[in-house]
Amino acid sequence: MFSNFTTMEFSSKLLEQAVYEMSQLPGIGKRTALRLVLHLLRQSENQTQLLTQALLKLRTEIKFCKNCHNISDVELCEICVNPNRDASIICVVEDVRDVMAIENTSQYRGQYHVLGGKISPLDGIGPQDLTIYSLIEKVKSGFVDEVIFALSSTMEGDTTNFYIFRQLESFNIKTSTIARGIAVGDELEFADEVTLGRSILHRVPFENSLKS
Ligand SMILES: [Zn+2]
Repeated sequence: MFSNFTTMEFSSKLLEQAVYEMSQLPGIGKRTALRLVLHLLRQSENQTQLLTQALLKLRTEIKFCKNCHNISDVELCEICVNPNRDASIICVVEDVRDVMAIENTSQYRGQYHVLGGKISPLDGIGPQDLTIYSLIEKVKSGFVDEVIFALSSTMEGDTTNFYIFRQLESFNIKTSTIARGIAVGDELEFADEVTLGRSILHRVPFENSLKS
């Protein structure tokens, strides 16, 4: 891609730099990057400043909830401080998009644990790169009754579920997995609210998902 990029003839180094940085975003090829940058140039300068300030603020001020590791503006997120949420039930998800998807169903009243990814040896992501240790510590504290696995049913998702399951096996807690109304390989964020809501309500013991 980069070699392709260098064949583009830019009339300005500044333009080239901006297009290059824009093209680093996922799904943005160099043509799209150029279109977006030219669009920014046509907008008022103020509009571009609002965009860059929002991105900078996001990058420098964002926090991760100390309890569930979800993206938050404060040390403990709204879900974790909400007294109406059941702290004895923990739903394990990959990232903030899954929390948003499950929250949209209004069917879940427990808390979350955001792993920050899935175990993926091919991408060099091991258990130590995720927040698994902190989940185990949480379970060790004795206040957790149930851990629900809600990772997408990809190979990496299954590997991660199983790894965590083995780590938690010796504790006297219930482990369950969301019912598979969701097709293999589907990501949670794309599941419709009704299906996802049902699959949480009708969750099954984790051992049952290990049969095959
Ligand atoms: Zn939290």
